Amino acid sequence: MKWEENVRRVVPYVPGEQPNKPNMIKLNTNECPYPPAPGVQKAIAGMQSEDFRLYPDPGAEVLVQGLADYYGLKKEQVFVGVGSDDVISMAFLTFFQGGKPILFPDITYSFYDVWAQLYRIPYETCALDEDFRIRPEDYKRANGGVIFPNPNAPTGVYESLELVEEIVQANRDVVVIVDEAYIDFGGKTALPLIEKYDNLLVVQTFSKSRAMAGMRIGFAMGSEKLIGYLNDVKFSFNSYTMNRPALALGIEALKDKAYFGEITGKIIATRERVKRELKTLGFTFPDSLANFIFASHQQLPAQEIFRALKEKDIYVRYWNKPRINNFLRITVGTDEEMEILLSFLKEYINKRMGEKTC
Ligand SMILES: *Cc1c(COP(=O)(O)O)cnc(C)c1O
Repeated sequence: MKWEENVRRVVPYVPGEQPNKPNMIKLNTNECPYPPAPGVQKAIAGMQSEDFRLYPDPGAEVLVQGLADYYGLKKEQVFVGVGSDDVISMAFLTFFQGGKPILFPDITYSFYDVWAQLYRIPYETCALDEDFRIRPEDYKRANGGVIFPNPNAPTGVYESLELVEEIVQANRDVVVIVDEAYIDFGGKTALPLIEKYDNLLVVQTFSKSRAMAGMRIGFAMGSEKLIGYLNDVKFSFNSYTMNRPALALGIEALKDKAYFGEITGKIIATRERVKRELKTLGFTFPDSLANFIFASHQQLPAQEIFRALKEKDIYVRYWNKPRINNFLRITVGTDEEMEILLSFLKEYINKRMGEKTC
């Protein structure tokens, strides 16, 4: 059709499956296995129909101020959106435009190249080394902006703040975005660097460490100038990105620091235990500081294990992509969930190894 010539075409991002089976074990989209803070649950019960009838505050003031207080910033240094996907997409639109290519790792969050294509932003990827580490030298060339997650997804590899600063320092003429979706599981945030570098945007989310993926709350922190530009674009796009329940429940989640420490601590402890168990089963993986482990078995193909797990309604994530097609990304669930996963793997691997030696 002639009109199709005018269609803005893009190959969309493929999110992880969201199956809904009664006894499934869902370890495929890095959700938190624990419920949100008790205060959030209480506030849900107290929701009024006014929260649905009225428009929300377009400035999302309560949440912006709450985040500013929490992180010791001015409210002019905080931007909020509908999940960090919305925040990062808005940042691409605001800060990256044409001219030179933006840079990000070859193995990373697979939404970055989709946004680049959607907004017609040229991009180049920089190959991680064989241990899935970022090579900072790769980011010391002319470019239109830089983005990388820390810890990286789907590898779980965390890079030091020294490396992050080295990349920011080498890119003072463009905006550098550090996507910290998994920073609360043991890494150090680059947040202190925003006072020193007005071109650094740090993005975080309530989806993973605050158990609120379904509410869609993400935020960015940076210099007042950066945040001002982001808001100009946001208000030119959709004034009411955050709905009233999300604003009210987000602030409740922030209030309960003890609960936050408790659930992230539990996930970290489970992760470390699962790492040891996976090793004894013959898996190798880069060390992860996220709420998932990116594991490869020494003898059995990842795709085979992925299918066998799925058959048992245990969902993990698998990508049939170059360099990572022999890895499974396994979200860290509760101890009980991981026990079921591990005992199935043990049985399955033993059986298959037995067949192999016969
Ligand atoms: C999960 C994730 C996001 C997006 O999370 P939201 O639910 O949109 O906040 C962004 N970046 C990375 C690397 C992620 O893994």
